[in-house]
Order: sequence, then C-alpha cells, then structure tokens
Amino acid sequence: MPARRYDVWMPSLAPSERLLRTVQTGRITWPRFLREYRRELFMDGPVDARSRSIKNHGQKFTLRLIKQLARRNRVTLMCHCAEDQAQCHRHELRRLIHSI
Ligand SMILES: [Zn+2]
Repeated sequence: MPARRYDVWMPSLAPSERLLRTVQTGRITWPRFLREYRRELFMDGPVDARSRSIKNHGQKFTLRLIKQLARRNRVTLMCHCAEDQAQCHRHELRRLIHSI
C-alpha cells in the first residue's frame, strides 16, 4: 500500500505474522484467531517489567487514543486485504476501539 494513502502505519495493531500464518493455513479457526489477536493486542512488553505500577498493557492506550481521535475526525482502519473481506482483523479492532 503506497505511503501517501495513509497517515500512520501501525504494525502494533496488526496480528503477529505467526498468528496470521496459523489462521491463513487453517491451523486455527477464525474465532480462535480473534481470541488470540485480542490477547496479542494487550500483551505486556518487556519494558513493563521495569515499572512496578505503571503498565502499558500492550496497545490499550493506543486504542484509547484512536477512540478519542475518532470523536473529532474520521478514522479509517486499513489493511492489505480486500476492503470487503469479512475475515479481517480490522473488524475486531473496530469493536475493541468502541468498547475500550
Ligand atoms: Zn485485513
């Protein structure tokens, strides 16, 4: 996807390549993929071990930031797959952003 078509590329909000491969090769079901994807999004990073009380909880604050941005401006979630692709992590991401 050409860089001029988006404002920010956020690989931190994508499923890991490993998780994506497991669902693309049929080793896990779509519902299982969604559960694992949600787990990945909130996974602690190594830096969290350096703070006793303040934790990042993965992408939690990024999701909250997007939610705030979406109150003022249109936010469009893009992916490499086709726009009408039903099985895309963007749908789950959208649900999470609304619920967080
Ligand atoms: Zn997609």
